[in-house]
Amino acid sequence: MQASKETHQFKTEVQQLLNLIVNSLYSNRDIFLRELISNASDAIDKLRFKSQTDPEIMGEDTELRIRIERDPEKRTITVADNGIGMTRDEVMENIGTIAKSGTAAFAEALQKVKEQNALTPELIGQFGVGFYSAFIVAEEVTLLTRAAGSDEAIIWTSRGDGDFTIAAAEKPGRGTEITLKLKENAEGEKDYTQEWVIRDIIKRHSDFVAYPIVMEVERDEPIPENEQLQDKDGKPIGEATRKVRADETLNSMKAIWARSKNEISADEYNEFYKHLSHDWSDPLTHLHVKLEGVTEYSALLYIPATAPFDLFFPERKHGIQLYCKRVFIMEDCKELIPEYLRFVKGVVDAPDLNLNVSREILQQDRLVRNIRKNLVKKVLDHLKGLDDASYETFYKEFGAVLKEGLHSDWENKDRLAELIQFKTTKSEDKFVRLKDVVANMKPDQDAIYYITGENLSMIANSPHLEALKAKDYEVLLMTDPVDEWVVQSLQEYDGKKLKSAEKGDLDIDGAESEKSDAFNALFGRIKSFLDGRVKDVKPSSHLKASVACLSGEDHDMSAYMEKLIKASGGQAPESKRILELNTKHPVIEKINAVFEKDRNDPALEDYSRLLLDMAVISEGGKIEDPSRFNQLVGELMNTALSK
Ligand code: ADP
Repeated sequence: MQASKETHQFKTEVQQLLNLIVNSLYSNRDIFLRELISNASDAIDKLRFKSQTDPEIMGEDTELRIRIERDPEKRTITVADNGIGMTRDEVMENIGTIAKSGTAAFAEALQKVKEQNALTPELIGQFGVGFYSAFIVAEEVTLLTRAAGSDEAIIWTSRGDGDFTIAAAEKPGRGTEITLKLKENAEGEKDYTQEWVIRDIIKRHSDFVAYPIVMEVERDEPIPENEQLQDKDGKPIGEATRKVRADETLNSMKAIWARSKNEISADEYNEFYKHLSHDWSDPLTHLHVKLEGVTEYSALLYIPATAPFDLFFPERKHGIQLYCKRVFIMEDCKELIPEYLRFVKGVVDAPDLNLNVSREILQQDRLVRNIRKNLVKKVLDHLKGLDDASYETFYKEFGAVLKEGLHSDWENKDRLAELIQFKTTKSEDKFVRLKDVVANMKPDQDAIYYITGENLSMIANSPHLEALKAKDYEVLLMTDPVDEWVVQSLQEYDGKKLKSAEKGDLDIDGAESEKSDAFNALFGRIKSFLDGRVKDVKPSSHLKASVACLSGEDHDMSAYMEKLIKASGGQAPESKRILELNTKHPVIEKINAVFEKDRNDPALEDYSRLLLDMAVISEGGKIEDPSRFNQLVGELMNTALSK
C-alpha cells in the first residue's frame, strides 16, 4: 500500500485535450453533470454484471444508487456511486490518461482538433473524455474511490493544470465519489450548488438513468395540528408548515425503450443516446423496435452521426447493452449484432432471457440468435428507409463497414446489395446505388464494370477505362480495401454480372482480331525481350488513347488486391500480368515498321522495356529500373527534339 502522496504529470496529449475541453465547452457546461452521472451509472452496471458470477461482491450494500451532495458555502458538488470503484492501477490507467491516447489514430484526431483550435462535440464523443469535463466548472477535482472487494481506497486530486496527486485513503464503502470545488461564479452564471439547478439538469439529461439519483432536499412539510401553536381555545395559529430535509430521487428511472414511441420526444431520444454512448452530438437516427411473440424483445438502437476514430480497431467495444426486464445484464454485447453493424449503439431488452447467462452461453442461446437475426433485418430496413441526405451522411461515415457484410452475411446479401453505393466515372464524387447504375446502363452494355485501386483520381483516369468511356459506359470506382471482397462476394446484381475493367477481355468491340494478327510476330518479340516479366503481350481491348496497360485474366488477382495483401504482410501469389498494347496507336504501328525492316534492330529491346514501364506507371506501380527508364526517355526526347 502506498502511504504517501505521489505527484504525477498528465501525459502531454491529455493535458492538451483537457485545456481544449475547458476552453471549447464553456458554453456547454451543464454537461459535466450528465457525464459524471453516466460514469457512475456505468460503474454500477459493471458491479451488477460482476455480481452475477460473484454474488459476494455486492456485500450488504445492495441498494444501488447515485448520490448528489452539494454545499453552497464551500462551493462543492459531489457525485457518489456505490458501483464497482477503482483500484490504484485502474485510477492511474483510466483517469491520468485517455483510452487509446497512445495510438496513431488518436494523435491524428488530436492534430485535427488542434488545427481547428476547438473541440467540437463530434470529436469529444470520439475521445471519450467525459470525466475531464468536470474541469469546465471546477477549479479542483477530487476523486475518492474504493474498488469492490478491496479494503483500500485511493484519493486522486488535480486542478487540471499539468499534474495530479494520488494517495492511499480511507472510505467506508465501495464505489466512487467525485467532488468538484467549483470555480467562482461569473455574473449571471448558474450556480451548480443550487438545488433547482441540479434538479433541472438531471431532469433534462439523466432522467432515464436506471438507478436512483438521490439528493437531500429541503421541503415544506405540513405541521400536524396538534404540534402547531394553539390559541387558548385549542385552535392552531402560526406556521402550518415547516422546513425538513429529506432524500429525494430526482430521476424517474423510466426505461425509455419500454415506453411507447409516441410518448417520447426527440430530445428524450437524443439525451438517452448521449448517456449511452458518451457521444456529445445527437445521433443521426434511431430505431425503436418492439417484437412480440415467440421471440420477444424491445430495442432502442442508434446510428451515430460520425464514425469514432477507432472504428477499425479490432479491440474496440461494441455498442449494444443487454437488459432483461429493464435490469442491466451486460455491455458490449457482440452476440447481438454482427461485426459489420458494429457502429450501432443502443439497448436490447430480452424479457425471456435466462438471467444467469454468461457470454459463452449467450453465443449458443437460441433466443439471442433469433433476436440478432431479427435486429439485423430491422437495421438494414431502417437504413433503406432513410432519406437521401441522411443516407449520404451515413454512408460516408460507415459505408466501408457496412460493405463487410456482403462477405460475412450471406443471408442478407440481397438487402445489402440494395444499400451499398459507389462513386462512378459519371457520378462526380457522389455515391450511387447499384440500382441507379443499372438504370443507366447503355442498351448494348451487358455487364456492370468496376475498377479497384486506392486512389480515386488515379483509377478514374486509368487507361483501362478508355474503351469503356468511349462507349459511354459508367464504371464503378472502388477505393475501399473491402471492395476487393465485395466483388468476390457479389458476382452479379439484378441479373447483371459485375466485371472487372482491368481484367480479361472486355469483349465490347467485336471483330478486331484479323487486324491484330498482323502484330503477332512483333508481340512475340516484345515478350521475349521482357524476359518472363509478363505472362503475355496482347492487342488491347481496353485502350483508346494510351499505348500500353497491364491487365490480368478474369480469375487473376487485381493489382490493388495484390498490394493490399503485401501491405498486410501477406504473401500474394506471384501472378504475372498481361501487357496490352494499343494496336491502333501510331507508336505501335511505327515500332512494327522498325521490326519489319530489321527484326534485330537494337532499339526494339529499349522500346519493349519502355512500353512495360509506361504500363506500370499508369497504374501507379513501381517500375523495375527507374534510372534506366530516365535515360531512355531522355534519349528519346533528345532524338525527337533534334529533328
Ligand atoms: P469514458 O467514460 O468515455 O470511458 P471517462 O474519461 O469519462 O471516459 O472515464 C474514463 C474511465 O474511468 C471510464 O471508462 C471508467 O473505467 C473510469 N471511471 C470513470 N468514472 C468512474 C466511476 N464513477 N466509477 C468507476 N470507474 C469510473
